[in-house]
Amino acid sequence: MKNKNKYTPGRQSLFWQIYPAFLAVVALAVLITGIFSARLFKNELINHTKRELFIAATTIREILYNSPFDRSYLDEECKDLGRKTGVRITYIALNGTVLCDSEKDPATMDNHADRPEFKAALETGTGTSIRYSHTLEKDMMYFALALRNPAKGHPEGVLRTSVPLASIKIVLQKRYGELLYTGLLVVLIAAVVSFVTVKALTRPLEKLREGAERLASGNFNYRIQPEGTRELYRVAEALNQMALQINKHIETISQRQKELEAIFNNMAEGLLLINGNGEIVQINKTLCKMIGSRSSEIKNISQIPSLINIYENTMNSGKCVEDEIIFTAGKEETHVRVRSVLIEEGGGERGVLMVLSDITRLKQLEEIRRQFVANVSHELKTPLTAIKGCIETIQNEESSAPLSASKTFLDIIAKNADRMHAIIEDLLTLARIEQQEQTKRLDIQSCHLARILNSAVESAMPGAREKNILLHVDCEKGLAAELNASLMEQAVFNLVDNAVKYSEEGTRVEIKACRDNNDIVIQVIDEGPGIPPEHLPHIFERFYRVDKSRSRKLGGTGLGLSIVKHIAQLHGGRVEVKSTPGKGTTFTIRIPVQHKNLI
Ligand code: ADP
Repeated sequence: MKNKNKYTPGRQSLFWQIYPAFLAVVALAVLITGIFSARLFKNELINHTKRELFIAATTIREILYNSPFDRSYLDEECKDLGRKTGVRITYIALNGTVLCDSEKDPATMDNHADRPEFKAALETGTGTSIRYSHTLEKDMMYFALALRNPAKGHPEGVLRTSVPLASIKIVLQKRYGELLYTGLLVVLIAAVVSFVTVKALTRPLEKLREGAERLASGNFNYRIQPEGTRELYRVAEALNQMALQINKHIETISQRQKELEAIFNNMAEGLLLINGNGEIVQINKTLCKMIGSRSSEIKNISQIPSLINIYENTMNSGKCVEDEIIFTAGKEETHVRVRSVLIEEGGGERGVLMVLSDITRLKQLEEIRRQFVANVSHELKTPLTAIKGCIETIQNEESSAPLSASKTFLDIIAKNADRMHAIIEDLLTLARIEQQEQTKRLDIQSCHLARILNSAVESAMPGAREKNILLHVDCEKGLAAELNASLMEQAVFNLVDNAVKYSEEGTRVEIKACRDNNDIVIQVIDEGPGIPPEHLPHIFERFYRVDKSRSRKLGGTGLGLSIVKHIAQLHGGRVEVKSTPGKGTTFTIRIPVQHKNLI
């Protein structure tokens, strides 16, 4: 479509639009003035000549009147006066006969009764005419004066004076020439003056144009130097002000843009803006990370297959679409919740905005929770089944059954009840520690490590004695730390108890504590069967056991090491394990001396 508002600039500059017009006006004015002046000159000259002819005629009339009427004398007189004045003098009788003439022989001349000046003189007393003289064969100007009261016997007639028009023309041409030169001079002066004036007027405009062009090309730091007339000065100032404002706006916009980009790229959610043609308009870093690509690589929604359906559904339905998808980058799986809405882009175009939230952690937690519930149910189910079985057996037994048999069943019930109690106790301990972990608050006090180790060893002593296992405590002298004593004692006890449980009779368990730079290090070293390497990454998981039946037989809950791990984490530290199957296992708790969780 043709743009109606399209501006087509004129080819000529302002100078060439003003200057010739200015010059033309001046030239026209000079021309008109010249023509009028020329006419005025001409009329003035003719009137002047007429007046001279009139003066000559009246003077000659007087001379003639004072002379006796003698045709040959008068003719001589005429010729003499004509030579002296340079004026042709003709005396014509009333019937048109030429009585005397200063130029020609009157006898050879025509009758002049038909001459217009002669006729006019007879009618009005004077007459003038400019015409061709057949007698002299050239253009002449005539003045005729009627002689009404002839004296000294002069007949009535007409005295005519005349001059050749050529002499008037010469004067006129001279004047015209002067006029032309003057006119040309005026035009020349006007040309120079108008050139300087128009230049002075257009130069600031030219500067203004240059400045405006620079601003239009985007150089908003450029400032136009105001000059010229007040109006131009104001225009320049207005343009400078405009540039300043635009600069400010641009700064604000780019600042906003940066802020938006920062928000856009640092959002925890992935963001994707797609236009109606499926082209990616915007994609943020979080989403790129999710799909394991760089933003420059992704140009079209077809490059993200798992989002195509959601995009098409949103475009077709125009409604908000929500779905859960999985991105797989290498071995890693990212679970994502997608919320997709239709948006109107600038210009009424439709597009789709997708917000993708990473719910992998949520999914993992859900899975952990599910597994945990399954594990707890399973762990509790086993002793509960045993208890139930025993009770049913006792109930079905003959009353005559020996008491010892019932005693055995009751022992089994008691053992399984203890087991369930132990599991629940451990679960409650874990829940308590986890809660403290979440609130990041832990009650601590300065404790001597030796006291904690001895206390834990004392608790494990009965089991150790049963198996003739030597528990040896080696604590750095005076070693103290800010920690929660009962929790740390519980952690050390769990490790010592495990070492006693899983080690062979007559072995030795070493319990050490020392300071390593900024850490407190507690180690429980046994000479037990060790843990196969493939189990090491899992032994701190809840209910994980290397040998399930053995653990159960030994009264293990599968939660002991998990509790140790959480207690270490609660103190800002960690627990590590090193084990050599057949030789023994070393558990190391490492906690920093100063920890922000400690209050
Ligand atoms: P459990 O109550 O079964 O002992 P734990 O969480 O304390 O549960 O330990 C997890 C598993 O790690 C145990 O079942 C056992 O197989 C293994 N384990 C723990 N400590 C030792 C140790 N000192 N020597 C050998 N195996 C151990």
